[in-house]
Amino acid sequence: MINKKSRDEIKRMRHAGHIVALVHQKMKEVVEPGISTKELDNIAMNIIKENRAIPTFLGYSGFPACICTSINQQVVHGIPSEDVILKEGDIIAIDVGATYGGLVGDSAWSYAVGNVSDDIKRLMKATEESLYAGIEKMCPGNVLDDISKAIESVAIRENMGIVRQYGGHGVGHEMHEDPFLFNYSVGDNTLIRPNIAIAIEPMFNLGGDDVFVEQDGWTVSTKDGKPSAHFEHTVIATDDGPLITTKLMN
Ligand code: MG
Ligand code: MG
Repeated sequence: MINKKSRDEIKRMRHAGHIVALVHQKMKEVVEPGISTKELDNIAMNIIKENRAIPTFLGYSGFPACICTSINQQVVHGIPSEDVILKEGDIIAIDVGATYGGLVGDSAWSYAVGNVSDDIKRLMKATEESLYAGIEKMCPGNVLDDISKAIESVAIRENMGIVRQYGGHGVGHEMHEDPFLFNYSVGDNTLIRPNIAIAIEPMFNLGGDDVFVEQDGWTVSTKDGKPSAHFEHTVIATDDGPLITTKLMN
């Protein structure tokens, strides 16, 4: 069952999304060689709390932090640690969730740490492009497969691997609601109705598609050890077009 959001719910989702965007604005500034992923988590936690929101990830299925930090071959769900220090040339995906007034904003962004290789630049550019290609299709009257196909077509054109075991999802009162959104075409003809919300989140790899869960039970990494990128926005399909909630409000 895909829930439509009321005007009031959309308002609170935009507020939650604004707080998530404030965290990303700060992450962009502080991601640099020498900082630990635990320090990033602390900074994110402070911003979320200062804005009277709840860190959605903390305690979610037992997750121990308020952001996910996934470096290089790590795809998603990396756990912040004081022992993990960013190095020049790394790529880090930071995933942030905030709950405000009972509604969730969920957004991930990949950041270059200092100077990165041309391959990593290409990976980041393609994954971000595919996110916006998907968002463009988040319009009433389209079907979910239109979003999936738009994402997949960028991966095919750029010869990138697509992470297949994870994908986008409905979002609202819960971080994960119906529907599941594939990042490649599976022919899902579920209609996109006005005022449904989906977190669209392509994950592309420089190598093959395959991933596995590390021994910590959380971190997902590529099987071939090649770098991965992750970009995500929470988006509402409105009659005026796609509304990204996880951006700064004016
Ligand atoms: Mg996320
Ligand atoms: Mg998500």
